[in-house]
Amino acid sequence: MERALIILKPDAVQRGLIGPILSRLEQRGLRFQGLKLIQMTKDMACQHYAEHEGKSFFSGLITYITSAPVLVLVVTGKAGTVELVRAMVGATNPAKAAPGTIRGDFGLEIGRNLIHASDSPENGERETEIFFKSEELIGQWERAIHIWIHE
Ligand code: UDP
Ligand code: MG
Repeated sequence: MERALIILKPDAVQRGLIGPILSRLEQRGLRFQGLKLIQMTKDMACQHYAEHEGKSFFSGLITYITSAPVLVLVVTGKAGTVELVRAMVGATNPAKAAPGTIRGDFGLEIGRNLIHASDSPENGERETEIFFKSEELIGQWERAIHIWIHE
C-alpha cells in the first residue's frame, strides 16, 4: 500500500475548485483516507517544504501556502498510487503542464499551481504525519464500487 498527501492550495480553495479537483480524484477511482480544511501554520509549511529551504522561491512559497485555508487529504492505494497521482497533477509549472492534468487545465503560473502531491511513498508517509493524527485517518475501507475499478 502507498499513501499520497495532497494539498489543494489557497488558490484552489479561493477559486472554488475543491469540487472539480476532488471529482477528478474520485472519478479516477482513488480512495480517500482522510480529508480536512485547515489554515496551515508557518511551522507546518516550513516542515512540509523543508527540502526547499534556502531556495529563491522559499519565502514566497511559505507566504502563499499560509495565506488562506487549504484542503489536505490522504489518498491510499496499491503500489504506484503516488506516481499516478503525480501524473494527474502535472508538471510543477502549469504553463508547461500537459492538458488533461490538473495544473495543465486550471493553472497558468508556477507560483499559483493549485495543488501539491507527494513525490515518493516515503514523502507520502512523512507529509501525512505533518497534517494528520493517526486517529484522523480511516483504516481499512473499500469503496462499494471497488470491484468495478479493480480486477
Ligand atoms: N515553486 C515556485 N517557484 C519555483 C519552484 C517551485 O513557486 O520556481 C513552488 C510551487 O508552488 C511548487 C512548490 O514550490 O509546487 C514546490 O516545488 P517542487 O519543485 O517540489 O514542485 P512540486 O513537487 O509541487 O511539483
Ligand atoms: Mg515537490
